[in-house]
Amino acid sequence: MKWVYSFGADNAEGDASLRNLLGGKGANLGEMASLGLPVPPGFTITTEVCTEFYKNDRTYPEGLKAQIDAALIQVGESVGMKFGDKSRPLLVSVRSGARASMPGMMDTVLNLGLTDETVEGLATLSGDPRFAYDSYRRFIQMYSDVVLEVDHHSFEEILETYKEEHDYFLDTEMTADDWRTIISGYKKVVEDALGKPFPQDPQEQLWGAISAVFNSWRNDRANTYRRLHHIPESWGTAVSVQAMVFGNMGATSATGVAFTRDPSTGDNYYYGEFLINAQGEDVVAGIRTPQALTKESRLKMGDEEPSMEEAMPTAFAELCAVFDKLEKHYRDMQDIEFTIQDGKLWMLQTRNGKRTAKASLKIAVDMCKEGLITEEEAINRVDPHSLDQLLHPSLDPDAERDLVLTGLPASPGAASGEVVFNSDEAERLAQEGKNVILIRVETSPEDIHGMHAAKGIVTARGGMTSHAAVVARGMGRPCVCGAGDLKIDKSEAFFTVGGRKVEKGEVVTIDGGAGKLFFGAVPTVQPELSGDFGELMGWADKVRRMRVRANAETPHDAQVARDFGAEGIGLCRTEHMFFEADRIVAVREMILAEDKKGREAALTKLLPMQRSDFEALFKVMAGLPVTIRLLDPPLHEFLPHSDDEIEEVAKSSGMDAQKLKDRAHKLHEFNPMLGHRGCRLGVSYPEISEMQARAIMEAACNVAKETGEKVTPEIMVPLVAKREELAFLKERIDCIAIEVLKENGIKLDYLVGTMIELPRAALTADAIAQDAEFFSFGTNDLTQTTFGLSRDDSASFLPDYMRQGIFERDPFVTLDPDGVGALVEIAAEKGRATRPNIKLGICGEHGGDPDSINFVEGAGLDYVSCSPYRTPIARLAAAQAKL
Ligand code: PEP
Ligand code: MG
Repeated sequence: MKWVYSFGADNAEGDASLRNLLGGKGANLGEMASLGLPVPPGFTITTEVCTEFYKNDRTYPEGLKAQIDAALIQVGESVGMKFGDKSRPLLVSVRSGARASMPGMMDTVLNLGLTDETVEGLATLSGDPRFAYDSYRRFIQMYSDVVLEVDHHSFEEILETYKEEHDYFLDTEMTADDWRTIISGYKKVVEDALGKPFPQDPQEQLWGAISAVFNSWRNDRANTYRRLHHIPESWGTAVSVQAMVFGNMGATSATGVAFTRDPSTGDNYYYGEFLINAQGEDVVAGIRTPQALTKESRLKMGDEEPSMEEAMPTAFAELCAVFDKLEKHYRDMQDIEFTIQDGKLWMLQTRNGKRTAKASLKIAVDMCKEGLITEEEAINRVDPHSLDQLLHPSLDPDAERDLVLTGLPASPGAASGEVVFNSDEAERLAQEGKNVILIRVETSPEDIHGMHAAKGIVTARGGMTSHAAVVARGMGRPCVCGAGDLKIDKSEAFFTVGGRKVEKGEVVTIDGGAGKLFFGAVPTVQPELSGDFGELMGWADKVRRMRVRANAETPHDAQVARDFGAEGIGLCRTEHMFFEADRIVAVREMILAEDKKGREAALTKLLPMQRSDFEALFKVMAGLPVTIRLLDPPLHEFLPHSDDEIEEVAKSSGMDAQKLKDRAHKLHEFNPMLGHRGCRLGVSYPEISEMQARAIMEAACNVAKETGEKVTPEIMVPLVAKREELAFLKERIDCIAIEVLKENGIKLDYLVGTMIELPRAALTADAIAQDAEFFSFGTNDLTQTTFGLSRDDSASFLPDYMRQGIFERDPFVTLDPDGVGALVEIAAEKGRATRPNIKLGICGEHGGDPDSINFVEGAGLDYVSCSPYRTPIARLAAAQAKL
């Protein structure tokens, strides 16, 4: 069995096609090497080893050691070094790399192979003892943290104290002797903590590091990240072992990270940061402030330190050529790590770069126009979920602001919330329904859950590629980084900026796009979508088969939906129209009426109100189909609660208050979701359905006459379980419709259909379709009734199900394909068997969820209907589902 794949020195055993086996990093290192790019040689241990490791109680498969030994010798030979050799010691990095990128989630060790002996060899060989000891102390610190699990604060403290005592400001001021002293301190920390010395056998170091990477696949932060990003545990991680190149070999060496385009805006220029005389982790950790890559960026940021373009023009030119080659090759924006060792460029990593929604859109559209990708590829490049970021509000430019601090604009978006200082608290408060802004000195992978729970993140330290910035962008959270003036008090009760103090729990507003934090809640405005958005949506519209409608009741929501490209209304929940102050009394009168006469009196009051509601909707949707659902309230939602409310109804209806109270009491249900709702209400009180049918048809006639537009009402009966329920109501609806059309003397098409929300309806859909001209899948109720899971109460225990892996997804968010989805498929098939042209749609919350949309494309539905803000997400997801 082949467990190890070598790469480098212009050849590679693996390439990008072996991503599942070699992980993203390993596959791309192979690919870069085979493209002839300067990649330090190394090898990748496959993800299959990870699988075997866990299958066999964390032990390694046979033959692995021999393959690693051989690969290591080969790496050494190609750079003229030998692992563990005293005079020419080969040093390696050991990194994780899963199939999907999990930034910062897994552990990395650099400079491995250094010992008290080999460090002397490195010092002689490089002619630079300072560099050798600097590398050794870095290694001890990293290895102790990642592999030996010794608290890294102890190391930082030693260094900080030493620098203070010697009046040093920067690490680069430290001499070889200084580092030697630090190293003895570090080694003592390890020995004190573990009761044995820091390992001096390079083989032991190597296996320790490999095991740490494999073990880290199941550490808490990796588990959290996988859960949030739906990455299966079974994929495993690969481990890449690679010859070290050094960015910390003096003024002609450097290290950096770069994106081939701006990951925040998508603008097409080289974007990145680098540090002279440093190693990779210095850039990401935000300990020193990195310098800009290009002169233009430097000038834009107002930096004084020279850019790479100015400081190292030859290496910069070489790097630019590599950027172009990689972007053309991968046909996507690349996120790159590089090192310059003594003037020579080395590529350490490339991957498709994480980006904001805005950048993702711009890059997809630009690359299509540049001829790099097709329209269809562009459609597939944008994650529909990420559009959420673009469709949400930003700060009102006219609102008053009270600026607290300024930092780097790390991730765009605006949000307000209470100040919190730690991730556990952020998570707890968010679970209580509070909006929080997480404020930290810096973030680490341990903060993932807090960052996810927070509406926005602010850090005192770190650059645009720091952990906080990268993770926040990926999550779509606004983020301000590197706010150097921010001081968090040790008590975590307040922070100060300049002389100003802000307490925990006070409300602040973050503007990630501007890199600013304001005091109080600053009002926000709706986003203006860029031309790129319209262009991509246009491409998606050309491709998709399913129509996209919106769930909307108010003219405002309907207008928002239209502006976002909705092609009709798929669900108007009429009960939502009844809550307004001027109607609720009449609605209560209707519900509490003792007899038909009382009910009709109330209905007479409601009819004109409903008619004008529907007229407004038909007008906004000008010519597009509008599905109006008959009343489906869980009755208790409308019952009067206080004496004042009872009194109000009594006054309006002329009924006795005590009688009303008794009747309200009688209407109380133990299980309203399974109670007197939906079509059951119409079966008991047909006059309610008749009033609504009349209001709908009269409104349609009025608008058709007034505007000359075609109006096509679709009247929808909710919560049908038996064909007979629908037949009973359809007969009455048809009667009224014919009557109204006759009264108005016009012809107008209308449809009567039903929601499929109960398993029985799905299973007998062939019978129901004899009366139904359309089906709309109410997957909220269908999920509730299929699982027997309460829509309202299950949020308290669903997290347990997710944690235990019993549910991978919340079934109220993403359609359960095996159960609820199967019912949808059965009903669609049976419905079509009876009525081949039956119109089929979905209007549960799943109608705006990309995975569910993908499922219903497969089931052949005609349209999805979702909340107005999700319309663009649905348009894009429907196109992707079709491709
Ligand atoms: C549904 O059940 O999916 C549906 C759309 O109806 P409601 O959410 O109003 O019950
Ligand atoms: Mg429902």
